[in-house]
Amino acid sequence: MRNNYTMKVTDHIQQSKKTLVSFEILPPLKGKGIQSLYSHLDPLMEFNPSFINVTYHRSEHTFKKRADGVFEKVVVRKRPGTESICASIMNKYNVDTVPHLICGGFNVNETEDALINLNYLGIDNVLVLRGDAAKNESTFEPETGGHQYAIDLLKQVNNLNDGIYLEEDLKNTNKTKFCIGVAGYPEKHFEAPNMESDLKYLKAKVDAGADYVVTQMFFDNAKYFAFVKACRDIGINVPIIPGLKPIYSKKQLTILPKTFHIDLPQPLSEAIHGCKNDLDVEKIGEEWLLNQSKELKQSGVPVLHYYTLGRPLLIANVVKQLF
Ligand SMILES: Cc1cc2nc3c(=O)[nH]c(=O)nc-3n(C[C@H](O)[C@H](O)[C@H](O)COP(=O)(O)OP(=O)(O)OC[C@H]3O[C@@H](n4cnc5c(N)ncnc54)[C@H](O)[C@@H]3O)c2cc1C
Repeated sequence: MRNNYTMKVTDHIQQSKKTLVSFEILPPLKGKGIQSLYSHLDPLMEFNPSFINVTYHRSEHTFKKRADGVFEKVVVRKRPGTESICASIMNKYNVDTVPHLICGGFNVNETEDALINLNYLGIDNVLVLRGDAAKNESTFEPETGGHQYAIDLLKQVNNLNDGIYLEEDLKNTNKTKFCIGVAGYPEKHFEAPNMESDLKYLKAKVDAGADYVVTQMFFDNAKYFAFVKACRDIGINVPIIPGLKPIYSKKQLTILPKTFHIDLPQPLSEAIHGCKNDLDVEKIGEEWLLNQSKELKQSGVPVLHYYTLGRPLLIANVVKQLF
């Protein structure tokens, strides 16, 4: 049975003298059922992750052809269930979970309801994000009555932590106690005009109460170390958790830079170009991830946070060699 308390990400970090491990998963595609998720997580649980993040996926608009030939706009949510998956994982594995919460697609009332649900479920961690533009939009557009930036969502979570709800006349309100994480970008967020500007807004999130930062994936540790130094230089003093992802297919050479706006170091891309097939790529990817993880661990990072989508066994192999 689960303990009747949850630990905050920052408590896990403060109470540990060594580098911790955490994993990030996606909700299953609609129709798959939660068993597929458990099968994904089972091989990773032997490493006692301190927490497991569950991403949030907003609805998409698509056009579907009706029988009469007319196209109609339909709303599809491919990966629902973030909050309930967090609760199920907590109950099944007795591990803390961190749901991601985004601005996109939510107005402030829906956000408040989501936070109240998390609080009722006993979840005291949340990673607050803006979210990307919807598939049919070129730039991010907040929902009517929703938040424009992650910092605005963060302030709403902080208000609930102070017992301030949207209905101002509520009396004797419950104060939530969310530990709040935010995203940081060692290679800059793609919309930011420059690194200085991006760091300025990251500092604003931390000054507004973010407890820690989790980074976008990177494949060159030097970029993470430079990012941490730049953060420290401007007074961002919270833990900065590196986000790590394995490469396991040639396709990722183009997909990862395009989707996540990151660089792949030349020795890595050349080694992958030279592979005969994806099995070989997987070997290179595993070795690269292991070396990255070893160096980060040696440097004393608080947590190694792995994006596990697609290759839990590869990640299990890496973590096994680290601890
Ligand atoms: C660890 C991690 C987990 C993620 N998980 C998810 C997920 O589960 N679901 C999902 O949909 N997306 C997820 N994302 C993607 C994320 O939503 C996108 O990268 C999004 O484009 C930016 O989110 P943010 O929270 O960094 O935004 P913000 O902090 O709001 O920043 C967005 C941009 O605006 C700029 N900016 C910030 N504040 C201001 C301001 N006041 N004025 C002007 N400019 C400003 C920033 O420099 C940046 O360029 C994740 C990203 C990371 C790194």
